[in-house]
This record gives sequence, C-alpha cells and structure tokens, in this order.
Amino acid sequence: MDVPYFVQVEEARRIAADVVRALPLPDVEHVPLAEAHGRLLGEDLRSLVDDPPFDNSAMDGFAMRLADVPEVPATLPVQAVVAAAAQEDLAPLLPGHAVRIMTGAPMPPGADAILPIEACEVSEGEVTLTKPVRPDFIRHQGENLAKGAVGLAAGVRLTPSRVGLCATMGHPTVPVQRQLRIAVIATGDELRSPGEPLLHGEVYESNSHGLVGLVRAMGHEALHRPVVHDTLDGLREALTSAAAEADMILTSGGVSMGEWDLVRRLMEEEGDLRYWRVKLRPGSPPLFGLWQGTPLFGLPGNPVSSHVVFRMLVADALRVWTGADGPKEAQVRVRLRDPVKATMDCLTLRRIVVAVEDGEMVGYQPRHQGSGNLESLASADALTLLEPGAAAEPGDVIDALLL
Ligand code: AMP
Ligand code: MG
Repeated sequence: MDVPYFVQVEEARRIAADVVRALPLPDVEHVPLAEAHGRLLGEDLRSLVDDPPFDNSAMDGFAMRLADVPEVPATLPVQAVVAAAAQEDLAPLLPGHAVRIMTGAPMPPGADAILPIEACEVSEGEVTLTKPVRPDFIRHQGENLAKGAVGLAAGVRLTPSRVGLCATMGHPTVPVQRQLRIAVIATGDELRSPGEPLLHGEVYESNSHGLVGLVRAMGHEALHRPVVHDTLDGLREALTSAAAEADMILTSGGVSMGEWDLVRRLMEEEGDLRYWRVKLRPGSPPLFGLWQGTPLFGLPGNPVSSHVVFRMLVADALRVWTGADGPKEAQVRVRLRDPVKATMDCLTLRRIVVAVEDGEMVGYQPRHQGSGNLESLASADALTLLEPGAAAEPGDVIDALLL
C-alpha cells in the first residue's frame, strides 16, 4: 500500500493540516451576543469605547485631593454624594473637602485619591480619615482597553468572559465564523440505540454521542447521522450523502484489519486515503482522507479510542482549519502515584485520576485501561502523554492532557 501507514502523531497532524489548510476559511456571519457563546470569532474585534469610559472609583468610600490630607487622622467636610450613574455635570471638588463616592461612580474633577469606607468615620456633614491617603483605588479611563484597540483576536473561542468583553467594548452583535458542519456516523452491525432491547452480541451505540459533544464543545455543528450497517453499499451511500451536506465527516468503527472493516476498504478502494494507522495508544487504527472532496476521519470503534483520536487528531485539524485557538488543550504536569508504561511504538494516553496533594497535582491509574472501558474515561481527569517506550515510576513527573 502506498499511503503512509502507522505514522507518528505529528505526521498524521501534518497530513490532515495540509488538507484542511487548502480549504476555504468558514464565512463570517453576525450573531447577537446571546448566540455568540462558544462560537469562534471571525475577525479581530476592536473596542468602540475606552474601558473604563471615564475615571471612576474602584471602592465605596470618599474622594479627596491628596494634597489636602498630608497626615491622618484628618476631618473634612462632605461636599456631596456621587453614585454610579450618568453624571452630566459633576461639580469640581472644593478645596479641603471630600465627596462620598460609590464603586463605579465618576471621579469628581480635582479629586485624585479614594479612601475606602472602612478607613473613614462618618459623622454629621463630616468625615474623619483614619488611614493614610494614597493615590489609589481610581480606575483610569482606558486603562483596560483604549478605544480602537483590538480586544479579541480573530479565531478565539467566545468563552463567557469573552462574550462579556464584546459587550464591554460596545458590540451588540459579534462577527463569528460560520460553524463547520461535521457529520458523525457510527458504523457496526452490533450497535443498538439506548432504549432498545439488546440481543446477545449487541452493544449500545455510544461513540456518536461522545463525538457530537466533542464537536459542539469546539464551537461547531454536529450532524448526527443514523447508525450504518456493515455493508459497502449502505456505507457508500451514507458517506456520499454526508459529503454533500457536511464540511467534514467523522465515522467510527470499521477501520481495523477485520473483514468487516468496511470504512477502511471503501476509503482504500474508492476514496482518497491519506494515511491509515497512527502511533497512538489507545487509538492506533484511524484513517484520514477525502470522500468526494470532503475530509474524513475514520475513527476506531472502541469507545475510548474514538474519543482519544478526536482529541489528538480531529481537534487539531479543526483548529488549523479555523485558525482557532480553542478550547486550548490544557496540558499539565502531574506527579505519578502509580507506575505507568507506554507501548514501544506509540504515544500513550493512559487514563488517570488527578488530585492535589501537598500543593501539587498527582495522578493515579485506578482503572483497567482497556480501550472498550468507557467508564475508565468517564471517571478520569486526564490522559498521560507518555512518549513511546517511556516507563514512568511512582514519583516521576509527566505531562498530561486534562479531559
Ligand atoms: P470496530 O472498530 O468496528 O471493529 O469496533 C471495535 C469495538 O468497538 C467493537 O467491540 C465494537 O462493538 C465497538 N464499537 C464500535 N462502534 C461503537 C459505537 N459506536 N459505540 C460503542 N461501541 C462501539
Ligand atoms: Mg465494526
């Protein structure tokens, strides 16, 4: 066979990246803020205002002129009260006076210090300042973001705080990338939907549900297709209909060496196969190629493997395609409590439970690591990133990918 076979993870990523990079970037559309959550920003977004838009107080307290309070305690007459609201004409601070001010209220002209209320004793018309006054607790106009500055770069994923920042910058709608439509197709004669009775030899179909969630978590749209039986004709038809509608196809199952591994056969015989098998454990069987011009990942059937391959390979290709940063693959350093061994050939992702002990992250491997054991993934917090051949002993610190 002349397509690359059993390739390193890096090579698999490069091959898929070269394919998706040649495809057009998704178009940009504008959505209201409420619909922007989880989407990928389509263009650099500049602030329409200074943030904050005016100098204001960071504390409830009193505003004054620093020079009026060389030492404390000092007692000043209270000139006025300002709350956080529109202030057309704020009277300038009179010499030797203080102004009662609330958090977020504009600074009276002339004031250059705030003393928090906890350091003030208030009596009839006067305030006694009990702590030294410093030029603190003022939020200066534009100190967070200047008007016109780029607050969010194209490609970022709109997390809740970023959607908030869009509003802070004055945008009622946000330019986002059109979501990629990603078809998810599970294959296998033995698969039943939850809710149906299981005959002997059948299992509940789980991969498509996990993959739909992974697609959505990256800000894209999942086209959840019905299970396809192990026939060449049925599979061909399912791929062709998916290719007409979707930007990318994910299949699960049917990519191993078995006689019924028809995704592999079909891609070899009628598709445009770019690699088959990757040095990844679990998850060595996947293939990547194009079906009628649409990029297709053939993921393994084993439930843990399909998840791992999405995280390691599909997610990377989607990030390349969209120029997106997120969600960032959160990599951490973990001190092992149990021994963990990599296989000779493969980057090895063992499922570990992570705890914090004595101020550091530690990892346990409490479950058997069969790639059919979805419970071991559901109860894990992270996946080890062990280089081929590595053996990590209790006490060793290793890289891990947070789930
Ligand atoms: P395959 O790659 O098709 O040979 O499948 C490998 C293993 O994964 C078999 O035990 C299948 O029953 C199981 N499997 C395949 N697809 C799914 C699925 N969508 N949900 C749950 N298990 C699956
Ligand atoms: Mg199968």
